[in-house]
Amino acid sequence: MRLTKNATQILNARYLKKDINGKIVETPNALFRRVAKHISNIEEINRKEWENTFYKVMVNLEFLPNSPTLMNAGLPNGQLSACFVLPVKDSLNSIFTTLKNAALIHQSGGGTGYNFSKLRPKGDVVTSSGGTSSGPIAFMKIYDAATEYVKQGGKRRGANMGILNVEHPDIEDFIKSKSDNVSLRNFNISIGISDRFMRAVQLNNDWELINPRNHTVHKTVRASDIWQTIVEAAWKTGDPGLIFLDTINKANPIPKQGGIQTTNPCGEVPLLDHESCNLGSLNLIKMVKTLDGKWKVDWDKLEQTIATTIRLLDNVISANHYLLPQVKSKTTKNRKVGLGVMGWAEMLIMLGLPYASDEAVQLGEKLMAFIQSKSYDASNALAKERGTFPNWNESIYATEKRMRNATCNSIAPTGSISVIANTSYSIEPLYALAYKRVGILENETQMEINPVFLEKMGLLGLWTEELKFEVMKTGSIQQAKSVPKKIRKLFETSLEIPWKWHLLHQRAFQRYTDNAVSKTINLLEKTTKQEISKIYFTAWEYGLKGITIYRNGSKPNQVLQTCNLN
Ligand code: UDP
Repeated sequence: MRLTKNATQILNARYLKKDINGKIVETPNALFRRVAKHISNIEEINRKEWENTFYKVMVNLEFLPNSPTLMNAGLPNGQLSACFVLPVKDSLNSIFTTLKNAALIHQSGGGTGYNFSKLRPKGDVVTSSGGTSSGPIAFMKIYDAATEYVKQGGKRRGANMGILNVEHPDIEDFIKSKSDNVSLRNFNISIGISDRFMRAVQLNNDWELINPRNHTVHKTVRASDIWQTIVEAAWKTGDPGLIFLDTINKANPIPKQGGIQTTNPCGEVPLLDHESCNLGSLNLIKMVKTLDGKWKVDWDKLEQTIATTIRLLDNVISANHYLLPQVKSKTTKNRKVGLGVMGWAEMLIMLGLPYASDEAVQLGEKLMAFIQSKSYDASNALAKERGTFPNWNESIYATEKRMRNATCNSIAPTGSISVIANTSYSIEPLYALAYKRVGILENETQMEINPVFLEKMGLLGLWTEELKFEVMKTGSIQQAKSVPKKIRKLFETSLEIPWKWHLLHQRAFQRYTDNAVSKTINLLEKTTKQEISKIYFTAWEYGLKGITIYRNGSKPNQVLQTCNLN
């Protein structure tokens, strides 16, 4: 097994089993064996064969499950899911019960999402004490501080998603709650948006803020003023994002189980209260083969790997140790999994298609349609073998086909597992051709030159000292006149790709993803507020479930750093 230095560093720091003195006691191969063994234990027949099949897809880096599965499978009380949603009701009891539960989940490597809209606004009455309420943002700050101190057993800091719906009286403060670039550092925040609100913005109508405690109108404002406040805050720091609750609920597979109010921290899984989901991602650069000297998508290998990994993810649900009985009950009744992808940008480069091209977007759609359809086939086959998910009778699939899982697909950010697999994040374009990853580990990782880029330049005989200097300095080859224009186009990086293409890729994948797509629309520093308004609006029109932007330089610490491209 060949691992990069950065992959080895991350595995050593966070994933490999350690003894009580902190000494690493397993190899990367042994890690994958431990995971494969644990999740094949629930197989009744051919257990060893399944163990080997699961081991192979992981050790070949064709697929990796989400980090908690890699970290915890086979360890005592191993919690294996990355994504959770917890309820927050308008009582101290609920607020602090959920805080405690979130701490336990964070300790195990999972992330939690909440919608705070049921909390009465700041300054509202508290009948029991005769005092006034602190409001949702104050309580979020307590969650944030708790997250800071629960360092997840030294593995990783917890992540939170905080949502406030756009009709909540505290919405303006919430929109600005991260604008100082200091507060709520352990939260992603998003505004819960309804179609009604978007139409009110379009028509420049009034918008009523409603007190959730007694459902009375707290204040009437202009929808467009709220929109403008959102846009300005997002322009300033990237927060808040939007989540489109009506779009999400139109796709809710089991509406009878209740409406969905929030997602997990990075937005790729809308979940019910107390529901969890485990994810896994196919490594697309391993899903190609050469034909007549050219790279082509290997559809057969992809199909086989999907069948194996949907089974693997379904096994994770059964092999999981649940920290909370409510989560066990919800999760095992719906059996949601999220199979997604990583390495999309590098696959496109191998196929010779620029990210900013119609061909790439069309292939994205075709690829994800294939992944979804084969995932459904796999889930259907599992249902015949093992039975449907218990809530199947109530689901949208009840009249259609038997399914083992209420959802099959999510596009996760793959922040850590793509480093282990040495490929590009999720469906993101390359951020730069040379970069340092910051914030993934305590110390910065080493300067990397993208390996797919290096190989291509080598093959074309274009790799010179001069080009290396240029790439190390700028992260880009757009100014390198020694490289033919067509090749330069193939290596356009995130900030060099107009936002239109980012959105088109997100839409292409969202169309065939039953959960959601986590994607950051990376923007140049000079991007205007009007453009951000346009991006957020287009996201809704495109039927995306959520939208996140990041304007270069608008936060003090970026995960990937290169020289300034602006
Ligand atoms: N997550 C988390 N803490 C982190 C990173 C991720 O809790 O530091 C959770 C969160 O729910 C996120 C999900 O894991 O949405 C998937 O993130 P990603 O794909 O980046 O995780 P990986 O499996 O690569 O570690």
